[in-house]
Amino acid sequence: MNAKLDSGVTTRPVTRQTFDEVLVPTYAPAAMVPVRAAGLDVWDQEGKHYLDFTSGIAVSSLGHCNPVLVDAMTKQINTLWHLGNGYTNEPVLRLASALTEATFADRAFFCNSGAEANEAALKLARKYAHTKFGPHKSRIISCLSSFHGRTLFTVSVGGQPKYTEGFEPLPQEINHIPYNDIDAARAAILDDVAAVIVEPIQGEGGVIPGDKDYLQALRELCDKTGALLIFDEVQSGVGRTGTLYTYMETGVTPDILTSAKALGNGYPIGAMLTTNAIAEHFNVGSHGTTYGGNPLATTVALNVIETINQPAFLARVKDASAKIFANLDKLSADYPQLFGKARGMGLLIGLPMAEGYKGRAKDLTKVAEKMGLMLLVAGFDVVRLAPALIVSDEQILEADRIMRAAVDEFLAAA
Ligand SMILES: *Cc1c(COP(=O)(O)O)cnc(C)c1O
Repeated sequence: MNAKLDSGVTTRPVTRQTFDEVLVPTYAPAAMVPVRAAGLDVWDQEGKHYLDFTSGIAVSSLGHCNPVLVDAMTKQINTLWHLGNGYTNEPVLRLASALTEATFADRAFFCNSGAEANEAALKLARKYAHTKFGPHKSRIISCLSSFHGRTLFTVSVGGQPKYTEGFEPLPQEINHIPYNDIDAARAAILDDVAAVIVEPIQGEGGVIPGDKDYLQALRELCDKTGALLIFDEVQSGVGRTGTLYTYMETGVTPDILTSAKALGNGYPIGAMLTTNAIAEHFNVGSHGTTYGGNPLATTVALNVIETINQPAFLARVKDASAKIFANLDKLSADYPQLFGKARGMGLLIGLPMAEGYKGRAKDLTKVAEKMGLMLLVAGFDVVRLAPALIVSDEQILEADRIMRAAVDEFLAAA
């Protein structure tokens, strides 16, 4: 027997309390500890069942433990895990081919998270601008209340000052402008700008869709000044909004696109996609990461893309979206004191709390969770729904039933 197993570390009892004792306190996880999941069903340590309308923050789009992915991954686990970037591998070559065939891009770079994909995009944009135009062209323009990840560069670029406080000195030459404000963009995007980074729909910032006119204006301003347009599709991508990537729906093509979250359905992977003309400004040694493009992650992502990028699959996302919006519109109409109008795209949906209940979104989701429905928030004022894209009509009905019960209990307690 393995000495480590004999010592009991892999089987000793652990509880939510253990988190507070041995984890760095960067999170405040829910009281229940999930132990098992399938599709949109989750069970906790007590065996209690939950309907998951979070997908692990827009990640598990094909459901938990999706059998197709389990199969593909199991085969790969028994074949090849990792060799490092001194060697390429078949799954990464297939995945890069699939992503470049399906999008505007000619080339892909793989990493392990959304922050890393954005880090790569921002570094590439600076390198491109510096070699093509000179070091004066280094400014990065981003939007207020945007979110781009937690590395020092990506929090600095992100538009939420609370995430950079205490981490100074920060990377320089970064400016933030209000989202969906064309005049502000026109004033900020000048000749010294290397890149403009934007979420086509802001996720963490409150589920706010970008106006088509706005995204088009960013495209034109970037073309005029030689800046690169980066779409952060870490949350919006891989079918979440009803197209493979949201840019396809906006009619605005970026120069660089970043993807992560749902790309691995829960197995860590990030990707940066771009054109030949931009990619050539990175060369051997410019950038890299040990695990980037490893056979396990790319096998999962290849099967995710293959499953989601089908017309019938994407049409169903829009159909499910319309059904959830209809339910939420009824809910807001029935409780106008509690909710504003639901907004979003596809299955990335925000339900804003009305004036008298600002700051209470999390309290409401806690009541729903007690009743067996897992929901997200986006900031303090917005309840966010991001069910797996395979959500059924019955699950949509059940979520509506639990939300209404939760609202009644929430109001009774308030
Ligand atoms: C989640 C998210 C990120 C960061 O991704 P990580 O995998 O957590 O590093 C970046 N951008 C957007 C839009 C996101 O939603």
